[in-house]
Amino acid sequence: MLTVNAKEAQQLILTKILESNQASEYLSKFMNRSTNTSTFKRNVPVVTYDVVQPYIARISTGEDSSIISGDRIVELLRSSGTSRGEPRLMPAISEDLDRRTYLYSLLMPIMNKYVSGLGEGKAMYLLFVKAETLTNSGIPVRSVLTSYYKSPHFLHRKHDLYNNYTSPDEVILCPDSQQSMYCQLLCGLVERQHVLRLGAVFASAFLRSISFLEQHWCDLVNDIRIGKLNSNVTNTECRLAMEGFLALPNPELADELEEICGHGPWKGILGRLWPNVKYIEAVLTGTMAQYIPMLEFYSGGRIPLVCTMYASSESYFGVNLRPLCKPTDVSYTILPNMAYFEFIPLEDGLRVTDDEEVVGNDKLVSLVDVKVGCYYELVVTTFSGLYRYRVGDVLQVTGFYNRVPQFKFICRRNVILSIDTDKTNEEDLHNSVTRAKKILEDRNHILLEYTSYPDTSTVPGHYVLFWEIKSTCEGVKPLDPQLLESCCISVEESLDYIYRRCRAHDKSVGPLEIRVVEAGAFDALMDLLVSQGSSINQYKTPRCIESGLALKLLNSKVTASFFSPRDPEWTV
Ligand code: AMP
Repeated sequence: MLTVNAKEAQQLILTKILESNQASEYLSKFMNRSTNTSTFKRNVPVVTYDVVQPYIARISTGEDSSIISGDRIVELLRSSGTSRGEPRLMPAISEDLDRRTYLYSLLMPIMNKYVSGLGEGKAMYLLFVKAETLTNSGIPVRSVLTSYYKSPHFLHRKHDLYNNYTSPDEVILCPDSQQSMYCQLLCGLVERQHVLRLGAVFASAFLRSISFLEQHWCDLVNDIRIGKLNSNVTNTECRLAMEGFLALPNPELADELEEICGHGPWKGILGRLWPNVKYIEAVLTGTMAQYIPMLEFYSGGRIPLVCTMYASSESYFGVNLRPLCKPTDVSYTILPNMAYFEFIPLEDGLRVTDDEEVVGNDKLVSLVDVKVGCYYELVVTTFSGLYRYRVGDVLQVTGFYNRVPQFKFICRRNVILSIDTDKTNEEDLHNSVTRAKKILEDRNHILLEYTSYPDTSTVPGHYVLFWEIKSTCEGVKPLDPQLLESCCISVEESLDYIYRRCRAHDKSVGPLEIRVVEAGAFDALMDLLVSQGSSINQYKTPRCIESGLALKLLNSKVTASFFSPRDPEWTV
């Protein structure tokens, strides 16, 4: 019904948001306490985080939630989007958890339509929490998933056959992600014959766990053999929760696992470790698409890869109604009861508007009025105090389900590098490189050109910068490795909060690498790109290159490579 009456559902959502929030300082500025939806569409501007941030700052220091919302802001959700290096904080009210739970509750009924027998076994979902803080006024600041896993909605979920996870909640909630990962894998291995589904929220986290398994399988097998948890797991809650899994030594299972992990190839290992698995679930669209080949390697290409949902800290958005389609064909059907959705048409196809560019109110298109084939930037209005907020995602309409559009996720506006939840845009990268190249200049070298590449052939993946360096001194001297290592860490130190957290805390991004290329490498790159159709007049060095010929060319010209010698500074 929701999808048939999408227009009415959206109208109702907007009316409810306005009724509930009309007295807020923000809305009154534009609406004069009216709850009329036409007044909203005429008067309320389309905004980016810069406009929202001062209100969030005021709430953080103790001002009342009523400056933006009729309900109390109970937490600030730390988004992976950043603004001037700091994570964007999205306001949330307690009712938002109901909306998120509603979306999660649709996932299994959808899967059951396509895959039978899912209630006869368990899911090994590798789920993790992140560190949280409090604002000066005592409001928790945490990630949206941490908020959900710590909520009664998750912890007191109804235990039915379809949400039977191998990982105990205590292990998911362990603040140490390495200990959590170790225990979650151990549970999954002990229960290997019962596991029907594998997954994580993002493909990057799933692959990181499989690579962890590759490094630690001997310890895991040993624990199973002797029926005792490794002493490196020190978290008391984890140790208690794991007792049931290792009650007795299990040498038969240990032998089976040792045979699979120690004597066979790792290609296709997932199907051998979990022989009854029916699919692997993770976000594999957007920047996560880079992990499809790796997942296919571990799954042997024989286990379906499933993307079920599209969500963010601002609001949850939609679900994939054809979960068994190829990851490259995934479209998400927007749920019209999550928030009020509008769209900025990207008239020149994929030309993406800047943050600074003012988007007129009259440009916005409502949910049911988008056109198949067209590209749009997503704008949301939520119950918790975001009004016509530009999420930053670019989507393409692929069709309709009843009256609700289905979207392919195209890209995040301005992001050029991403390995895990980090999102680095061209400007951030440029500023960091500009800072680091001063170190070179102080030592008689200049950086002639650079570009970048997210290398996901290692686990975790890492940022690679290709640098062409020229010496300003007479004579050719080899580059001092320490100098280049200082440049690596300098770039990392000035990348944003989320990048540094992924590096220093989550360990989901590896040390940044600078590959020095020989003189003329960037001219050769230009020749190649021009031969492929770039205009020579308008040619600009791309600040990030895709895999393919350009990458091959630059790699063939590498003369030396250097890595960051340590983690960048990061504090919660
Ligand atoms: P965050 O605010 O940190 O929760 O990140 C939300 C962002 O992650 C979204 O705005 C998207 O850019 C990205 N994202 C979330 N789900 C998906 C998905 N299914 N496919 C592609 N990108 C996604």
